[in-house]
Amino acid sequence: MNWVALVVCLLIFARWAVELWLSNLNRRHVLAHADAVPEAFRGIVDEPTYKKSVAYTLAKARFGSIEEAYGALVLIVVLFSGVLPFVFHFFEHHHGTSAWCTAAFLFTVGFAMSLPGLPLEWYSQFRLEEKFGFNTTTQRTWWLDRVKGVVLAALLGYPLLVLILKIVEWTGAAWWIWAWGALLAFQLLMLVLAPVVIMPLFNKFTPLPEGTLRERLLKLAGRTSFVAKSIQVMDGSKRSRHSNAFFTGFGKFRKIVLFDTLISQLSESELEAVLAHEIGHYKKKHIPKMLVFSALSSLVGFYLISVLAKQEWFYRAFGFQTTNIAPALLLFTLLSGVVMFWFSPLAHWWSRRYEYQADAFAKEVMNEPQSLIGALRKLNEKNLSNLTPHPFYSGFYYSHPTLVEREAALTR
Ligand SMILES: [Zn+2]
Repeated sequence: MNWVALVVCLLIFARWAVELWLSNLNRRHVLAHADAVPEAFRGIVDEPTYKKSVAYTLAKARFGSIEEAYGALVLIVVLFSGVLPFVFHFFEHHHGTSAWCTAAFLFTVGFAMSLPGLPLEWYSQFRLEEKFGFNTTTQRTWWLDRVKGVVLAALLGYPLLVLILKIVEWTGAAWWIWAWGALLAFQLLMLVLAPVVIMPLFNKFTPLPEGTLRERLLKLAGRTSFVAKSIQVMDGSKRSRHSNAFFTGFGKFRKIVLFDTLISQLSESELEAVLAHEIGHYKKKHIPKMLVFSALSSLVGFYLISVLAKQEWFYRAFGFQTTNIAPALLLFTLLSGVVMFWFSPLAHWWSRRYEYQADAFAKEVMNEPQSLIGALRKLNEKNLSNLTPHPFYSGFYYSHPTLVEREAALTR
């Protein structure tokens, strides 16, 4: 084994070890508070719900540990068994190395790599979520979702791959800038198409019916000068009892979307506060900032691929006897998760800052913090969220602050 392979193996094992350590830390922390409802939550959750949330947290942690170990194992097998060079050679031998063929190689490997995770996804939905009363997905919907996903990937992802590989052929050394531009244009197109074409393939969207709730939310939109074409209700209950709210599209295509599950769980003032929080994300320009950040990261990514694709050692470390760009793209994608893992605490810290800002905005436009606090309490209760995560664990993984942290910030 050469040193590149050794470093990659060490990184994969290090990630797995840290995941395991954090998970154990969190499990012990949850168990230490499991006997009775902690002081901070008395009167917010009752004893049976609290016990259930502890059981749900522990069950998810156990399952998560299995998933992580399995993921690390699959990655090591895929990277070092020689299967990737074998498949590449097969494509090269039978179909040549045109952009169409190498894109087909990438697509095939991508599809094949989604298969080992299927049984775990199935178990998570139909055993784990089912056991705690969250699953409402039928087998038919679940399988249909997977099929639709593959068809969409073939219709949208495959042409994008061909285009990027063609750009490499056409533009020479500076291909990475052009490829980045193409990816950016594709992502912007998706931003427009997703709410109109893609999301309706998976869910039904209906306008929020006339009534006091609709009036109230429209008034809030007016008060915060938030332009929205419509307020839509999404049938989230088709798949799960978990609840959510978001908005999609931009400019005059913007749509506010509320899950039907959210509407049934919250009061009107709580729903208004949740929407105010979402508008806060918009007003504080969180979305364009995230988009700029992700665009810059993909620019760095493409540049790194262009550098790695010139290094013979990079190919040899994983058994490739070629310097075709396609394997470099593939290897980089497979390895990026192993590297990005170490940056996730930073990304989540950033995301939590945005959540605090959106909460503060909601408090300001609502003129009181109680509606949002009420909504957050109910959401934590209904989703059986872990109320007592270990600070290291939530610091590393949580994109949102915990209930205690958010309430403290709102009542300051
Ligand atoms: Zn938020």
